[in-house]
Amino acid sequence: MQKIKEIPVRYLKGIGPQRAKILEKLGVKSIEDLFYYFPHRYEDRRNFLKISELKEAEYQTIKGEVLARGEKTSWRRRGFKILEVVVSDSTGKIFCVWFNQPYLKNYFKPGTHLILYGRVQRYENRLQMTSPEFEIIDEASSYDTGRIVPVYPLLNYLSQRSFRLIMHYALKKYIPYIKDFLPYDIRARNNLLNLAQSLINIHFPTSFELQKKAYQRLSFEEFFLFQLPLALRKVKTRCQKGISHRIDGKWLNYFILNLPFKLTCAQERVSEEIKKDMASSYPMQRLLQGDVGSGKTVVATLACVIALQTGYQVAFMVPTEILAKQCFEVVAGYLYKINKDIKITLLTSGLKPQERKKIYQQIRTGKISLVVGTHALLEEEVEFKNLGLVVIDEQHKFGVSQRALLPKKGVNPDVLIMTATPIPRTLAITLYGDLDISVINELPKQRSLVKTLLFSSQELDYAYTIAKNEIKKGNQVFIVYPVIEESYTLDILGAKRMYNEFKKNEFRDFRIGLIHGKMKQNEQDYIMEEFKNHRLDILVATTVLEVGIDIPDATCMIIHYAERFGLAQLHQLRGRIGRGGQQAYCLLISDAQTQEARARLEAMLKYNDGFKIAEEDLKIRGPGEFFGKRQHGLSDLKIADPVSQLDLLKKAKEEAYKLAQLDSSLNFPQHSLLKEKLLERFPQYEKLILVA
Ligand code: ADP
Ligand code: MG
Repeated sequence: MQKIKEIPVRYLKGIGPQRAKILEKLGVKSIEDLFYYFPHRYEDRRNFLKISELKEAEYQTIKGEVLARGEKTSWRRRGFKILEVVVSDSTGKIFCVWFNQPYLKNYFKPGTHLILYGRVQRYENRLQMTSPEFEIIDEASSYDTGRIVPVYPLLNYLSQRSFRLIMHYALKKYIPYIKDFLPYDIRARNNLLNLAQSLINIHFPTSFELQKKAYQRLSFEEFFLFQLPLALRKVKTRCQKGISHRIDGKWLNYFILNLPFKLTCAQERVSEEIKKDMASSYPMQRLLQGDVGSGKTVVATLACVIALQTGYQVAFMVPTEILAKQCFEVVAGYLYKINKDIKITLLTSGLKPQERKKIYQQIRTGKISLVVGTHALLEEEVEFKNLGLVVIDEQHKFGVSQRALLPKKGVNPDVLIMTATPIPRTLAITLYGDLDISVINELPKQRSLVKTLLFSSQELDYAYTIAKNEIKKGNQVFIVYPVIEESYTLDILGAKRMYNEFKKNEFRDFRIGLIHGKMKQNEQDYIMEEFKNHRLDILVATTVLEVGIDIPDATCMIIHYAERFGLAQLHQLRGRIGRGGQQAYCLLISDAQTQEARARLEAMLKYNDGFKIAEEDLKIRGPGEFFGKRQHGLSDLKIADPVSQLDLLKKAKEEAYKLAQLDSSLNFPQHSLLKEKLLERFPQYEKLILVA
């Protein structure tokens, strides 16, 4: 029997080339695509409300017949057309109005039966719905009334009625072709509906209970297919033979003894987790999450020391030259105290070819034990003698393939990936199912909190006064804009123009610089150096600051149009100040009035903890928006929602791991359909790379 993925919708009765094209616009090419095109809501049309029973100010659905229609011109605004349609049922009548959509008139011939969904108001003492959703129905058709009816997101390409009819035919004809790829025991254990039943009931549920069961099953399926490759990957890595590093050596003791501070409890805890991983014989695959300034570098250095004392080389990759330099200095400082002979080097693309060649040579022969670098580490010429540990900082700044490349330069080295972007736990276990996760959820004590204040643009003077006071105390200020050039369409000012403006006016008595992403990397680095060395008082910037170096004297940041930044981004930016232990001020400037913008800014004022903020962000914007435009697997989730269905997600993950342990190549006969499905989804799943 043919697979529904391979049957084009064109083959369906009533679908000609024109319809097929329209469906393609909705992303529907095959019968399978059609079945997985889900309703975004349902209407209970088993019993309609009577017009006499309508409640004011609520969204409700009624069924009725057009009595009359007419057009008016607004007396308030000339040329403003109002379409009025009177609809009645046996109990009363209601007025429906649409503004400036005269073409709608043709739909509403008197005698037409229709269904209306909208908010009911009382207006000039009559019942009214303004621009309700409507659907013309055929009284005799059973797909539009008398049942729970699906409503699809069709973007006006197609009427609900036609789409429902297509769906109905397709289900009737092709449901017998459906084979369930979820193994029976998994379905049974989790009380899941089979696939055919689920598809029928997600589209034409006979009850809301069944709709819910269908939704559960299809969500489970999505979570499961998302987790399975990660689980298989993890089980395989676990079986590989990695390096058992020594965690009892002299160097490690020196390192701990010589630290200029006591590790926080959180740092202690994750250090133990890392030590355990490194000592074991399977390759470590750990994600270390910690807010900006939580002290990840020390922990990473501890991992480096372990690899070094066992006699292995270490590669430490960071996203920019200037960060590489900073990281190099910190790590070199620690290692120097342990043993002056540990050879460590900095590899960036800024080096002269001659110097680079020499470094390649020394890495290859093992003379250099630890190399800190940028993407330059990924060059083919970089070959290690015995790479034992890979550390990748600010992992989200690298592409997936870039991250996977570095560990391949060794034989199953341990891998530690770090990120300062706090990811709520729910998303972390979805996205990084194949990684073990460590979290540093506490900041070193002596750091003072950053005070965050919100100003409207009319109160800008206060913000500037605070900034100037800071400079007078010998501190430094960032002024951040969301864009480089001003935009007339968005009606906002940009960094470049304001920099010139400030130089002439507001801040003419101060030394002021500009940095943004369109500048060459070496220019950016130069300006950052100037600022770091305190040859500038003010730095006007865009979000290039997000990932950055330590500027201990920076105590004030003004963020213009704060509503235009994501919460995570704002938090990250704020992390750039107050790193020298002094009281710091983050001044958000915004005139935004929307509820969402208000909620986000409110969260910034209320919380300093990046994880709290991330959870809040997730709540406000939902998982799809959470990561902005960045590509990631979450967009594969069409129906499942990791936030509201966390328990289901956990179950799916558990089952995926159980299965992976049982049959890591999916060779059991009862798993053959599943394997087929997985290969369909991820043709390369067997090669799936390190991180999502
Ligand atoms: P992250 O990379 O997580 O943003 P860093 O590792 O750069 O943070 O640490 C930020 C600063 O805090 C550094 O100056 C570091 O020396 C300091 N630091 C780290 N851990 C501690 C600690 N336990 N006590 C005091 N200061 C610490
Ligand atoms: Mg860091």
